[in-house]
Amino acid sequence: MSDAFLSDRVLGIQPSPSIAANALVARLRAEGRDIVNFTVGEPDLDTPAHINQAAIAALQAGDTHYTGTSGTPALRQAIVDKLARDNGLQYGLDEVIAGSGGKHIIYHALAATLNAGDEVVVHTPYWVSYPDIALLNQATPVIIPGDESLGFKLTPEALEQAITARTKWVILNSPNNPSGAVYSEAQLLALAQVLRRHPQVLVMSDEIYEHFVFDGARHLSLINVAPDLKARTLIVNGASKGYAMTGWRLGFGAGPAFLINAIAKLISQTTTCPTSISQAAAVAAFSGDQAPIAAMRALYSERRGRMLAHLGGIEGVRCVPPEGAFYVFANVAGLLGKRTPAGATLGSDSDVVAYLLNETGVAVVAGAAYGMSPYIRLSFASGLEVIDEGCQRLKRAVDRLR
Ligand code: PLP
Repeated sequence: MSDAFLSDRVLGIQPSPSIAANALVARLRAEGRDIVNFTVGEPDLDTPAHINQAAIAALQAGDTHYTGTSGTPALRQAIVDKLARDNGLQYGLDEVIAGSGGKHIIYHALAATLNAGDEVVVHTPYWVSYPDIALLNQATPVIIPGDESLGFKLTPEALEQAITARTKWVILNSPNNPSGAVYSEAQLLALAQVLRRHPQVLVMSDEIYEHFVFDGARHLSLINVAPDLKARTLIVNGASKGYAMTGWRLGFGAGPAFLINAIAKLISQTTTCPTSISQAAAVAAFSGDQAPIAAMRALYSERRGRMLAHLGGIEGVRCVPPEGAFYVFANVAGLLGKRTPAGATLGSDSDVVAYLLNETGVAVVAGAAYGMSPYIRLSFASGLEVIDEGCQRLKRAVDRLR
């Protein structure tokens, strides 16, 4: 048996680079290496206790069976209420669906709508999975290059140029992973003006980091500024980041009923429904005490400040302060062309990543994974002492370059 048995679709994609980076860290640690892990794409914090309690109560009540494909009525109601409370958006029960993570919703939404040759517009730096999920569904990712001097934000001009008669989806992600860009009302409005000119295009608004915005930035959904686009926009969100629930695998989509029904149809043939216990936990997350979110936001804000302060003192590394999410997307152009103590020349961000890992045990992800080089992504979803240690190592490694 060999790869010759695999489908063209699977051979045409790569494993998720961020998951691969984490797996590498786990392997190196198992081999006894002392690694500071800045690759993590998830909160290091525990799921709040009242959410865990709701899951335990569900287990004890025998809530361990299949649920409806779109999620329990209680969870869908909690999602509808959450969208009204946090986002000022009104959705009906038939316009929301729970899935096994936001990624699951994104996958099923694209699989439910794409035909061979359709185009999916994505801009760099992008979350690693969008282009590969488009490719898996025989579509063509159309990649708009980002621009650091514009805060890594998609401009209306670039969007207009990228849209063709074959465009099926435009994917927006604010707050953005990896750049931390958060779109303002004016920026969203300008993008909405372009989208209004192309009624054949569906819009995905990935808002999974909505709760983590800093320095006075405010999260807005595209639908807040352009309610007329609601009929063709899918909001993707979930419990993973905001409630420190990545392992529960619980996300949701909110959008027009035809799309939600299509996603449900597909889920009925793939995973059947999200885990019943996770759904009970998510009801508590979305409907219960929201105070833990503010506490997490304050913590991330402090960590962000600490990481930016460290990186600001490293020559050759430059950062646009992220307005949201929990990553710094740092420009490492100033390190390229330098020689390592072993005599190698750093020629790319992947070389920088390998050098940092080998030289100092600091793990970061190369910008290439997000379609934009030469950058590295550093997660600040870890304790201040970890941030201090990792950044000090990073500085020592950079100081050794000639
Ligand atoms: N969207 C973005 C931008 C992400 O960074 C992630 C996870 O890293 C997801 C979606 C998917 O999250 P989940 O499947 O855990 O809900």
